[in-house]
Amino acid sequence: MSVGLGLQSGMREVRALIGAAGLAMPLLFAASAAALLFGAAEERILIVFLINLIAVVGIGVYTGNSGILSFGHVAFMGLGAYFSAWLTMPPSLKSVTLPNLPGFIAAAQMDLFTATIIVAVVVALIALVIGLPIARLNGSAAAIATLGLLVIVHGVIIGAKDFTRGSQSFFGVPRDTTLWIALAWAMVAVLAARLFRDSVPGLQLRAAREDELAARSMGVDVVNRRLAAWVVSAALMAVAGALLGHFLGTFSPKKFYFVDTFALLAMLIVGGMTTVSGAVGGTVLITLVIEVLRRMEGGGTVLGVEMPTVFGMTQVGLSLAILLVMYKRRAGLLGMLEWDEGLLRRRAGSAASPAGEEPPAVEPTGSLEARSVSKNFDGLIALDKVDLELKPGEIVGLIGPNGSGKTTLLNTMSGALAASGGTVAIDGRDITQWPAHRIARHGLGRTFQNIRLFGELTVRENVEVGAMARWPGVGQRRGAAVAQGMLNAMGLAAEADRVAGTLPYGAQRRLEIARAMALQPRYLLLDEPAAGMNPAESDALLADLADLRSRRGVGLLVVDHDLRLIMRLCDRIVVLNKGQVIAEGSPSAVQSHPAVIEAYLGRKRQ
Ligand code: ADP
Ligand code: MG
Repeated sequence: MSVGLGLQSGMREVRALIGAAGLAMPLLFAASAAALLFGAAEERILIVFLINLIAVVGIGVYTGNSGILSFGHVAFMGLGAYFSAWLTMPPSLKSVTLPNLPGFIAAAQMDLFTATIIVAVVVALIALVIGLPIARLNGSAAAIATLGLLVIVHGVIIGAKDFTRGSQSFFGVPRDTTLWIALAWAMVAVLAARLFRDSVPGLQLRAAREDELAARSMGVDVVNRRLAAWVVSAALMAVAGALLGHFLGTFSPKKFYFVDTFALLAMLIVGGMTTVSGAVGGTVLITLVIEVLRRMEGGGTVLGVEMPTVFGMTQVGLSLAILLVMYKRRAGLLGMLEWDEGLLRRRAGSAASPAGEEPPAVEPTGSLEARSVSKNFDGLIALDKVDLELKPGEIVGLIGPNGSGKTTLLNTMSGALAASGGTVAIDGRDITQWPAHRIARHGLGRTFQNIRLFGELTVRENVEVGAMARWPGVGQRRGAAVAQGMLNAMGLAAEADRVAGTLPYGAQRRLEIARAMALQPRYLLLDEPAAGMNPAESDALLADLADLRSRRGVGLLVVDHDLRLIMRLCDRIVVLNKGQVIAEGSPSAVQSHPAVIEAYLGRKRQ
């Protein structure tokens, strides 16, 4: 199977392997060259580079996929260094320098490989516990929490004098990290990071990075996905820490604090934190910059010119590098695409679209019901005991003046907002208290009044998020086929490999519907799907929506201001005014209802 077909059928694992191999091969060449051609000094630089690479790729697993900058990951590196040293140092030395270590650790004398594996598992478990609260946070709150983690772990390492020698240097660690060991782990890290990025949880987390509410509404358990990335990245940091400890032989808590955090983040940010390619590229570049600056910092002659000794030149240089990249290229030097994605995307589009899979039609039983639903915003009554029922195969219009509560009703039914009163039920099950992702997986899809796509993901990926979240374990291949079917149905197949944020407006609206439909919902709530469309576009949309109902049997609740569309499309119309249902019935009945004419249509006609 060609690489192109791999892309088309959504076989992410294959692409991930090719992508990771493409990054690992140059590392192998560089290491071989260093071992054969250069001296010990170059070899040391390369080992440090490889360890940094593991750490940067490790931070990237969390920060790149979730979009949350972590200042705390170096703490896991510190834990990895200390824990692994306890396991590998000779018992005779430990009895002198660390006499209070617990018995089984005091007696242990493992090889570096065993110790590294154990430490990766232990640190992953610690990260799991720490991550439970942190994964609930997003944006800067989460970033601050990770900073707290760094400070706390640093304090704990200094405080646990009996086991760590406090702020004094910790010495006697066997210097077992060779170039080949560092290289092997760097390859493992690159592979693990790339596989995670392209896994279903990785894709879902990247979707949440782009738009958390939209991701939840597509069935993504965002907290769980953040936690998974956090744990995987912590394990990689522990490996980096173990290798660093066994490279240096001697270290102190300072080694795992702000200076290194800053350098590693600089590598990640400069290269581009959303890709493994960016992490690798940034590590190469910043390592070179640091090496040059370090030489200049020490004074001496550079190109025949006498240089003074300048302290802090490295930090200033890194800061400038970050500023320059942020100013010129926000996504980092390597951008948002992995190197192989960039290559393939340029060639994509020429291939014919595969057929895709049509999921089974919705069974015409049950209903989605809002019973006496209320919603208050600090005293403002946005919804006042609203009743609404939607059956599979039915198209219901929801209209009303601006601010009458239409969007709020959709938000409370889909779990984006908690109702203040009343109940919402799907097929008889009370879902009022359920989180949005669970409601989505239970068969309720939605779109948003202000388009909320996963802007930096491709059109295909947007739809795949919905397709793969519907049932845990739906499988990549099946999910990709369903996504393809939905792209075909909504006329988006030709744009499948385009970045979603670059689509024209009308296509973005259709993509939102395709994404929600890929979730294979029984009920679909559409918030002003025709807003901003011209008459031709909205006619096409009308045909698509009518088609969704007749072919898929899904129930549609459509909010729109385009009364022409609503009147032609809907079987039944519900009219809201000031949070209350003021009329309900067939389009013709509603149109002639006096309260409606007064509240809504009347004003419009003037
Ligand atoms: P519609 O979609 O019918 O135009 P909305 O549901 O958006 O109306 O809004 C209904 C009312 O609730 C409005 O008065 C609006 O200002 C208010 N509202 C909506 N969302 C919020 C919110 N998150 N916080 C406070 N007030 C809100
Ligand atoms: Mg609205």
